[in-house]
Amino acid sequence: MSIPIYTYDAIVVGAGLAGCAAARELQNAGKKVAVITKLHPLRSHSGAAQGGINAAFSDEDSIELHEFDTVKGSDYLADQDAVEFMCKNAPETIRWAERMGAAFSRTPDGKIAQRPFGGQSSPRACYAKDRTGLTLLQTIYEQAHRAGVKFWDEWYAADIIYKDGKVSGVIAFNIRDMKIAIFNAKSVMFATGGYARSYKINSNAHANTGDGLSIVARHGLPLEDMEFVQFHPSGLSGNGVLISEAARGEGGRLFNSEGERFMEKYAPNAMELASRDVVARAILNEIREGRGVGPRKDAVYIDVTHLGKDLIMERLPELRDLAITFLGLDMIKEPILISATAHYSMGGIPVNIAGNVRKNNDELVEGFYAAGECSCVSVHGANRLGANSVLEALLFGRYVGKTMVKEVDDIKLRVATEDDAKTALEEIDAILANNGSETIPNLRDELQTTMTDNAGAFRTKQTLEIAIAKVKELRTRFKNIRIKDKSKVFNTELQEALEFGHMLDYSAFIVESAIARNESRGAHFREDFDTRNDEEFLKHTMGYMNEDGEITLDYMDVVLGKHELKARTY
Ligand SMILES: Cc1cc2nc3c(=O)[nH]c(=O)nc-3n(C[C@H](O)[C@H](O)[C@H](O)COP(=O)(O)OP(=O)(O)OC[C@H]3O[C@@H](n4cnc5c(N)ncnc54)[C@H](O)[C@@H]3O)c2cc1C
Repeated sequence: MSIPIYTYDAIVVGAGLAGCAAARELQNAGKKVAVITKLHPLRSHSGAAQGGINAAFSDEDSIELHEFDTVKGSDYLADQDAVEFMCKNAPETIRWAERMGAAFSRTPDGKIAQRPFGGQSSPRACYAKDRTGLTLLQTIYEQAHRAGVKFWDEWYAADIIYKDGKVSGVIAFNIRDMKIAIFNAKSVMFATGGYARSYKINSNAHANTGDGLSIVARHGLPLEDMEFVQFHPSGLSGNGVLISEAARGEGGRLFNSEGERFMEKYAPNAMELASRDVVARAILNEIREGRGVGPRKDAVYIDVTHLGKDLIMERLPELRDLAITFLGLDMIKEPILISATAHYSMGGIPVNIAGNVRKNNDELVEGFYAAGECSCVSVHGANRLGANSVLEALLFGRYVGKTMVKEVDDIKLRVATEDDAKTALEEIDAILANNGSETIPNLRDELQTTMTDNAGAFRTKQTLEIAIAKVKELRTRFKNIRIKDKSKVFNTELQEALEFGHMLDYSAFIVESAIARNESRGAHFREDFDTRNDEEFLKHTMGYMNEDGEITLDYMDVVLGKHELKARTY
């Protein structure tokens, strides 16, 4: 079989906000660029973002306050140079998006409207009703298309070509007919998004299976701060579908079974608008202590009825639709049932501010970049503030595209050969040929249940050890799978098997990193070490995986700055 080899200056994997923004920069600078995406670009999870995108530009707000809120929100684990860079460039990013055509909601006097979000000193989240991500994604995708970017839609990236500290391409197959191709390039960027699908209750799209992370880790490259998974306070009860923080931003209140506005006990000043980790744990604690509501007593109420029909229809129409569709409850008339849902991944592929992927604490990988949720430039540290992530994806996506423009001409193309596709082909053939007794839906269900029960918003050494034992067991059983569909036409079963392999890899990172962090910081809450321990753990985790899937850990310094360490209260 001969494998086609396509040659580009740059390959971007992922067509969410980060990928589209980067590709547009490259194309406009005259570079030959292609985007590989397993979904149609407009189905990327960026399109599901509801609540908003932060930028400090009102008279009451300042860049410095945005920085301070972000660093405090991160429980001081964010790298302050990256935070400063993001906050400083946020207003310009909003203006740029607007110039590109994004229609933001307005105040009566015509300014871009901003709503309050958790953990923020001032209303800072710019929004387009509760469809902010969709508006931005449509705009940036359209502009990338207009510039002439070549999109390879419904192509699945299975591997990178990585040798001698340098990345020189991507191995991908067409989901339609499983035909594999080699994309040879001077530079490659990963913008593959988040990975909360390894939890049973989560807010993420089905595609968020962390492929990019696992592909990187399988080459012995590090993943950073993987223990920090964000649990969003408000997922619809039972399925975790997101009810954006906009609901609380606009004034939504939380109640338990005793009719108590319980946030008074946990965050007397910020109340429902404390940072996400604080509110999520408060909700779970109310449920654990028997004050849950709903048929299974596993939820609390969020009530927005006092906002009135007009405001709800104007600013939260999508959320209302979701609650009617999934719970049969109308937010205009009654409170709805919510609980915490796995939502966002602070950790990921370590990069510097320019977007270069780290090989270890001191060295960079040549020709390899990442941005958006799959990356960890560490602007979110141990906990991300709402509306900072769409900002990160758009701002760093665009900026990393510019870095690639600058660097690509100095990189020498290493010419690919068919042999570079060997590992990816073997993986696919092995799954098709396997005739074992396990099925992917069962294994995936066991993984998700274990992760939610044992590596969730509350964890202890003991629960995490249960989780790691399960991950190891599943890794063994994964070798004994059988998929029924042996065809090569839209073989989604095969794709799910590949994705499950990725989920196993990064779940091991989450759990092993969490076991070693004997403290509680941001979203990582260890009941057996329930306070922050700056002396020992003010550092980033760097995990490395060997061929047997075993993880070893190292640590990297946090970049501190003008915002001094303080206790975090809201
Ligand atoms: C329901 C929900 C609401 C949210 N609301 C907000 C909000 O209001 N404000 C905010 O700041 N943040 C919000 N977030 C978070 C934010 O939307 C994301 O972090 C951000 O949009 C991620 O953008 P991205 O470009 O990194 O990735 P994504 O938009 O997730 O795109 C990932 C891309 O990678 C591609 N891909 C992945 N794997 C492969 C592979 N193996 N081969 C080929 N292609 C691949 C996919 O096809 C896709 O195009 C929300 C998240 C969710 C889930």
